[in-house]
Amino acid sequence: MTFHILTLFPEMFEPVLHSSMLGRAEEKGILKFNLINIRDFSNNKHNRVDDAPYGGGRGMVMQAPPVYDAYMSVADKCISKPHVIHMSPKGKVFTQAKAIELAKYDEILFLCGHYEGIDQRVLDEIVDEEISIGDYVLTGGEIPAMTVIDSVSRMIDGVLSNEESFTDESHYDGLLEYPHYTRPPIFLGREVPEVLLSGDHAKIAAWRRRESLLITKEKRPDLYAKDEQNYEIELNPPPKRKRKR
Ligand code: SAM
Repeated sequence: MTFHILTLFPEMFEPVLHSSMLGRAEEKGILKFNLINIRDFSNNKHNRVDDAPYGGGRGMVMQAPPVYDAYMSVADKCISKPHVIHMSPKGKVFTQAKAIELAKYDEILFLCGHYEGIDQRVLDEIVDEEISIGDYVLTGGEIPAMTVIDSVSRMIDGVLSNEESFTDESHYDGLLEYPHYTRPPIFLGREVPEVLLSGDHAKIAAWRRRESLLITKEKRPDLYAKDEQNYEIELNPPPKRKRKR
């Protein structure tokens, strides 16, 4: 999978994309990162890529030509059009389901805005979808793009090690994950739940499932409500009827 990133601040990505799991996946050739500085496509001697908004008002707007030229420098080298995502607070809020969906693409191009945003005409020309990382506003699209790239990368074969799995993690199946414990067995007087020391894998799995349901019910009633009826039956199964002789 190749991630192309159009940004005014490529240096922000270096430490994140080239270290830890993403860095290892890049070394193995599973992920490729192509950082493009939109400023390199400026057509004025001051290297500016922003200008005052038509109609007046506060702030500056990123101009369409350098963004388009930066995009074309990538698109021209791709076999088919890369999937273009504009990081924007106006986009659909990012979810785990979206991460799974995006992991199917071979090439994704992220467009990171700054200032008041980007001239609408170039967005209308090249963008396939807009994604927001939440209902708040950041100074630029770089941190949102890194968030999406990190999350999508974990869904790609070979990025996580064999011991790690994303299928029982929070949000994968609509629930939050159960709590984790490791050595020591007692910490500040708090003990590890006994079942986890039992070695009984079926009991441990049942305990984890129940914790997952209870935690989701308590912390994210909005998620729990999506399948409440079935979750409630799972938490409070009807008593088994005794067979008549
Ligand atoms: N004027 C814009 C508005 O009110 O919708 C906000 C612009 S913001 C200061 C600058 C850039 O940060 C945006 O173009 C976008 O790329 C990025 N950005 C800010 N918040 C974001 C969010 N929640 N999700 C994704 N991108 C965001």
